[in-house]
Amino acid sequence: MRWFFVEDIKADDATVRIAGTEFTHLKKALRLKPGSAVSVFNGKGLKLSGRIESVGMDNAVVTVEGSSLNEGESALDLTLVQGLLKGDKPEMIVQKTTELGVKRICFYSAPRTVPALDEGKARDRVQRWRRVAIEAAKQCGRTMAPHIDYVDFASALKGRGEGLRVVLWENERSQGIGDILERCKGSHGPIALLVGPEGGFSADDMDEAVKKGFIPVSLGRRILRAETAAIAGVSIIQHRLGDLG
Ligand code: SAH
Repeated sequence: MRWFFVEDIKADDATVRIAGTEFTHLKKALRLKPGSAVSVFNGKGLKLSGRIESVGMDNAVVTVEGSSLNEGESALDLTLVQGLLKGDKPEMIVQKTTELGVKRICFYSAPRTVPALDEGKARDRVQRWRRVAIEAAKQCGRTMAPHIDYVDFASALKGRGEGLRVVLWENERSQGIGDILERCKGSHGPIALLVGPEGGFSADDMDEAVKKGFIPVSLGRRILRAETAAIAGVSIIQHRLGDLG
């Protein structure tokens, strides 16, 4: 099934117009013809399925045959709160954790290790992360792309009233992530997973996180790169409490 992203579709649309870069992909890369079965999704859970009615110069028209809501979505409301990392590691985290079903990614600035993005750069970077999330959702058959934002650390700790908030702490020795998840099976609600920046958390940052209700948990004795810890943490939580296998 070919998937295309169109932001402003409605559940009762009888036809959908595909234009812009999505149309270019449809016409030039996939060379789809009238009659081809396609799906259109808006990244917020709505998906319309149908067939191409016509392929014009700058858009294609799809006749809608059916619609669905939240297909491919995990019931688990999981937010990843991740310190900004160097290079394109954030883009890699967006792609992998989108495939793994995360609902929201909140990057926070960690100036001790990576210079904070100024307003213009932050806006561009968040746009880029959103495009990566849409492409990853398309590829893995999700109808929802995670909401992504970039805030300061204090705002990141505020969260959205999650029922369970865990922080991956490389110096935690007494409780593993499995212990916590075992204890809250079936009674957790939305979950927030906080992961440190390159170089890890400062003692003050950890104090702040614990004060805001984050429970320190370990992923074992090896020290993982932040991106490894983020992907492993999301996978373990989605496996234990969500729909990953
Ligand atoms: N100070 C070390 C650790 C940084 S790793 C260094 O400089 O290499 C970055 C983040 O990954 C940590 O802040 C933590 O959130 C997570 N992390 C890495 N290994 C972990 C482990 N074994 N248990 C829990 N969290 C871990």
